[in-house]
Amino acid sequence: MNRLETAPASERLYNIILKVTNHCTLRCSYCYVRPHFEQENRAEMSISLWEKILREYMELARGGRGSGTDHRTIKVTWHGGEPLCAGLPYFRQVVQLQERLVSPPYRVVNAITTNGVLLDEEWVDFLREHKFEVGVSLDGPREIHDRFRKTHEETGSFDSVMKGIRLLQQAEIPFGTLSVVTSESAADPRQLLAFFADQHIFNLNFIPYTTQQDWLDPVVYSEFSTDLFDAWISLNDERMYIRDFANILARIFGRESSLCEYTNCFGNYLGIDTNGDVYMCDLLIGDPRFLLGSALGSTLTDLIQGARYKRLQGAARANHPSCSECPFFMICTGGCMYRRHLGGGLPGRDLYCSARQRLISHILTRLEELDTGVRHVAGVIN
Ligand code: SF4
Ligand code: SF4
Repeated sequence: MNRLETAPASERLYNIILKVTNHCTLRCSYCYVRPHFEQENRAEMSISLWEKILREYMELARGGRGSGTDHRTIKVTWHGGEPLCAGLPYFRQVVQLQERLVSPPYRVVNAITTNGVLLDEEWVDFLREHKFEVGVSLDGPREIHDRFRKTHEETGSFDSVMKGIRLLQQAEIPFGTLSVVTSESAADPRQLLAFFADQHIFNLNFIPYTTQQDWLDPVVYSEFSTDLFDAWISLNDERMYIRDFANILARIFGRESSLCEYTNCFGNYLGIDTNGDVYMCDLLIGDPRFLLGSALGSTLTDLIQGARYKRLQGAARANHPSCSECPFFMICTGGCMYRRHLGGGLPGRDLYCSARQRLISHILTRLEELDTGVRHVAGVIN
């Protein structure tokens, strides 16, 4: 699972999220890709398909075929399954292709979301050399992480993940962690934050557990988020960046958010499956209602200028009636489309709307109360 942080919308075109492989080294019990590899239908995106996508993306970036705007930053997020399962030779071809097809003033920013298990010195050297932005899935201390993030043998993966994290730290590669919040980890946000601080991990992203059928109780997530915010203020460590808080604060202070769910996302992201099927977000991959078509048989331009795209984009950008009257709309912008869909179908209300309202209200109250808090958060978003 992931949510997407990227350059501000004004600086880039689409953030493309590629399911490079559906294979994985782990068997996390809450994984939404798991049914694929349990059926042994392993698939990888071919390099020739990536070349086609990149060529078409460059055409869009240069303002070709009617988009009219010259976008210099090409953001690509490599996702899976476990993207490292595609192997280093695969990724060497990826960057060679990018070096061949993309030249200044254009640039590619690669990001990769990994479970960390396959990280070794060779991978770390590669990620550093090519300046990949790295996100590692780590839910918290061993007893929290190992509860859901299991190996194929149903043992915990904490030690393997931490080994990968140590390699990144030794190589001084900046990275963030992605933590799925479950009722277990939500029980003690202070302890969770203390764990990450103890491990010298200072870029944290918390995501409520959600699948199509099941999700973390929004009331539990709301209490977790507000308590975590207070713990963050108490920690008073300017190195500690928590993505949700930083983006809400950016919106409060009138800045552009770099996180998809605070930007009314549709029109900024494309999720592409290993077989070339293109969706409006990677979290929507597999849901035929959000399928735009295939990158194999159509060009990206055709897909995003097609009637289907425009209809979905229009539906997504139509705010829920609650949002029109919401005092926090300028900060929230209406929530995550995936969770709006879970909350009742288009144009539904974000499943975590009440949690967002409570968190934003809590932050605003704390900002008024805490002069030190204002100084602290100003440091974080500057
Ligand atoms: S649906 Fe939109 S807000 Fe939600 S994860 Fe996808 S891009 Fe982000
Ligand atoms: S907090 Fe809820 S009602 Fe307000 S803008 Fe966000 S999703 Fe809409």
